[in-house]
Amino acid sequence: RKDFVANASHELRSPLTVVTGYLDALADDPALDATWQEPVREMRRQSDRMRSIVQDLLELSKLEAEGGQAELEPVDVGGMLALIRKDVLARPEHPAAFELSLESDALLLGSEGGLHSIFSNLVSNAVKYTPADGSLHVRWWVDSQGGHVSVRDTGIGIPAEHLPRLTERFYRVDAGRSRRLGGSGLGLAIVKHALQRHEGRLEIESVEGKGSTFTCHFPTTRVRAKGA
Ligand code: ADP
Repeated sequence: RKDFVANASHELRSPLTVVTGYLDALADDPALDATWQEPVREMRRQSDRMRSIVQDLLELSKLEAEGGQAELEPVDVGGMLALIRKDVLARPEHPAAFELSLESDALLLGSEGGLHSIFSNLVSNAVKYTPADGSLHVRWWVDSQGGHVSVRDTGIGIPAEHLPRLTERFYRVDAGRSRRLGGSGLGLAIVKHALQRHEGRLEIESVEGKGSTFTCHFPTTRVRAKGA
């Protein structure tokens, strides 16, 4: 079943690239009939969604196929989070405030790609589910328990009954909203898997209407002091 999902996603990639390419060209064509402008825009949005679903399916299959534990490559968490923040602020729509507190300069031992995928998925969600006048706060700190990264937002929050199932594939609190925002429903499944490969775990706290905090906990064995 896993191979099938990986193969199917791989096969879907090239036809989708062709369709998306033509739709982009059509949308930019000044000769496009006015009645077709909105439908073409909608087709573009939907093909972008399909692309992100296929990409996330491929990533999840890859994580499952790899199994085992992530490598022990030293990763500069602070630098990575600063770049993710910069990317978010460069988007046309982002929350009014994005605070980053780097309380440690320690490194995390893991896979650069895997860690980037964890943090960027959590930050993208915080952006997606927080109105433009809201704020984000990302923290990196180390204590006697290990290393921790938290992503807090003042967004729509999540009703308590959904929290236990949130990291299941395609589980969404509000499917309509997630689809409108271009969500694949796979982001948190990827986060959970990638974290497991780092012997980490995800903690989710949320209050409906007030906001959410997603915290990644890594064991001390994966934390290395800078210069050590
Ligand atoms: P999606 O692509 O739908 O965002 P995810 O797996 O990343 O899929 O998240 C699953 C669901 O969890 C989302 O559909 C959304 O309902 C909820 N969710 C995730 N992050 C947040 C957040 N920061 N604030 C509110 N809801 C969230």
